[in-house]
Amino acid sequence: MAKLPTQFLVCSFFLLLALHSFSVRSQEVEDESEFDYGANSTKGPARWGEIHAEWGACSNGTMQSPIDMSNERVNIVSHLGRLKKSYKPSNATLRNRGHDMMLRWEDEAGAIEINGTEYVLHQCHWHSPSEHTINGRRYDLELHMVHESEDGKVAVIGIMYKTGRPDSFLSSLMDHLEAITDITDGERAVGVIDPRHIKFGSRKYYRYIGSLTVPPCTENVVWSIVRKVRTVTREQMSLLRVAVHDDSDTNARPLQSINNRPIQLYRPDDKEEN
Ligand SMILES: [Zn+2]
Repeated sequence: MAKLPTQFLVCSFFLLLALHSFSVRSQEVEDESEFDYGANSTKGPARWGEIHAEWGACSNGTMQSPIDMSNERVNIVSHLGRLKKSYKPSNATLRNRGHDMMLRWEDEAGAIEINGTEYVLHQCHWHSPSEHTINGRRYDLELHMVHESEDGKVAVIGIMYKTGRPDSFLSSLMDHLEAITDITDGERAVGVIDPRHIKFGSRKYYRYIGSLTVPPCTENVVWSIVRKVRTVTREQMSLLRVAVHDDSDTNARPLQSINNRPIQLYRPDDKEEN
């Protein structure tokens, strides 16, 4: 070592320093969310379609979500039938994705069946305020349960919430949410979570064909939005909002054009439930 020229050591030192700062820099870029919700942001919803070629549907799509479900557009039907859910408890991980909080089931958590196709439950996450609106009214929170069929088709169940009594499912996750609320890409194993504890409160639901509401905005997503608006506390809502590393602290995509798409509202014939 003593015989190595000083120059060589100095060069090596600066080379290592350069490599180190390069890796730190590229890591920062990775950590940054590739899109955000700022209305005037270069990464905001109006520009999502320009960020990557694969995200083109965000600006060129004709069946985008979310939409407003107004009474005059909705057809009340009974033939859709009840949502056929067969969920089961499974190990789950909570993840702060920077733009939202996501609960991902690691093992089989069951499925829903729509028109003879089975869609397996993968994850759920929250948007605040709600993305869909009912007769122009936006609610405080919207839960999305994301399912996928064997051949890659997506079905999402949406549940909306307004401020009020606590939601029991969120109550059971509060400690875990608090633990990673400030940590982008923070992950936390939360043990066995039973998706049946996500309360629907009604059999009525809206059905339409739309898209993912985040890039790549993939279309032909089968949407089922539960008609009953449930409640969460202000504390539960703000805990989910803080996770969004955005000036606005919101993560709801603006409403998209309906483009004459039909919207159905399933109502059971027997009228035994609201
Ligand atoms: Zn979503």
